[in-house]
Amino acid sequence: MRIGILALQGAVTPHLRLLERLGEAGVPVRRADELAACDGLIMPGGESSTMLNLIHHYGLWQPLADFAQARSVWGVCAGSILMASTVTHPTQESFGMIEATLRRNAYGRQNESFIACLPLRLPGQPPFDQECVFIRAPRVERWSPKALVLGEYDAHPIALRAGRHLLTTFHPELGSDTRLHEYFLTLCGAQAIEALA
Ligand code: GLN
Repeated sequence: MRIGILALQGAVTPHLRLLERLGEAGVPVRRADELAACDGLIMPGGESSTMLNLIHHYGLWQPLADFAQARSVWGVCAGSILMASTVTHPTQESFGMIEATLRRNAYGRQNESFIACLPLRLPGQPPFDQECVFIRAPRVERWSPKALVLGEYDAHPIALRAGRHLLTTFHPELGSDTRLHEYFLTLCGAQAIEALA
């Protein structure tokens, strides 16, 4: 499987290392032709407003929107903000790949960032605790009842799957657990949405 990591800004390398541990090819994506060669895409954590500017600067808005129609995208933190249908505090343009409202920086500033050990429930697996790193994280304020909540903090989803797409408001790539990356690989490899558990 060839998994692209949008490499305009943010935490790209930890995803590449983690995919390497799983024996999968992670490739940095900066151009539309690089994107087209991928089976799935991770939009990493970083700063969503900066990423948005760079996406427009490099002409990647339409290629990314088209990619998400056919293949799986996983947004991590800033990437999850880009995937949302509505963004608040402040409002910001977003792709609407997942039907959800995300509030930016909902847990405070950089020095209020935190790590919490939280239970995740991935389809077909027993629940397990994961070390979740929240860095100026957004909060999912509203989400589609059709979406699958894979984990929560304070009654808000921190991991959400909708159709072939995934979002996490924390940074799994900064921990050592590979299970979310493995789960994303199953989404990327699924032939049809219905085939997903
Ligand atoms: N606060 C950042 C934003 O709004 C996201 C932070 C992160 O990705 N760790 O884009």
